[in-house]
Amino acid sequence: MEYYKNITTFEELYNTCTEQSTTIWQTAMEHEVDAAEISVEEFRAIVKKSLDAMKEAIRTGLKSREMSISGMCGDDCSRLQERFQTTGALFGKTFEKITTYALATIEENLRMGKIVACPTAGSCAIVPSVLVGAAEDLNIPKEEQINALITAGEIGRIVSNKVALAGAVAGCQAECGVASAMAAAALTQMRGGNVEEILNAAALALKNLLGLTCDPVCGLVEIPCVKRNPFLAIHAVTASELALAGIKSKIPPDEVIDALEQTGKLMSPLLKESSQAGLAKTRTALRLEKEFLK
Ligand code: SF4
Repeated sequence: MEYYKNITTFEELYNTCTEQSTTIWQTAMEHEVDAAEISVEEFRAIVKKSLDAMKEAIRTGLKSREMSISGMCGDDCSRLQERFQTTGALFGKTFEKITTYALATIEENLRMGKIVACPTAGSCAIVPSVLVGAAEDLNIPKEEQINALITAGEIGRIVSNKVALAGAVAGCQAECGVASAMAAAALTQMRGGNVEEILNAAALALKNLLGLTCDPVCGLVEIPCVKRNPFLAIHAVTASELALAGIKSKIPPDEVIDALEQTGKLMSPLLKESSQAGLAKTRTALRLEKEFLK
């Protein structure tokens, strides 16, 4: 249908869902099916494939201690699992799952394992860890998990209409920041949130990450990327909880995206994936770089 093709902003998405009495995932699914000229079944099978790949990355990552080629990262997931086995997390089992699933997935990425770039490889663990970890503990059926992933994808699609989702273009706010917004939306969808709550969850997550720079050590997607994933997965949970309580982003979602775009433009190129400043130029980073190059 023609009107689906014209959804480029969160306001249009909200209005369409309201006028048609549809959810975000239903609206997005109509849009994708129409654009790709495929059936609903074919579309859902594609999303399911991504969901299955996310779960497989978690399973594989949880069992591995293999370090990356640089030797800088790769064993954080097993360390965290060991701690949780003996001590347990302050915030309980779901927190344990989300943080360990995030490390498992992002460590698979640095081992060159199979992951789903969601929306990018460096931010690939935020959506899966929140979606899968919460779905397991909340007993969310597979079809609803697929709906949640479609919702997350729609959030990423709309942001990407305005800003390229790349650290080199707008800093990490456009990678891990957007991933956190997508995860917040997916979780809110799974927990029965309405369209307004889902959009608020995404906006709340994203606006608290504006200005997040991209300053990877040695130019590798390892430091700070690996640990940033579990942090921002939990950030997404906070945004979802606030939104489900009826707390709104006073700045509407589309204006948060405007701010993201402006902040990205104002950000120095030294802090946009060039590894020329920030963490990448600390004394320790320079030493690690020397060792790595040796
Ligand atoms: S710091 Fe840069 S490379 Fe790492 S996840 Fe963020 S945007 Fe990607």
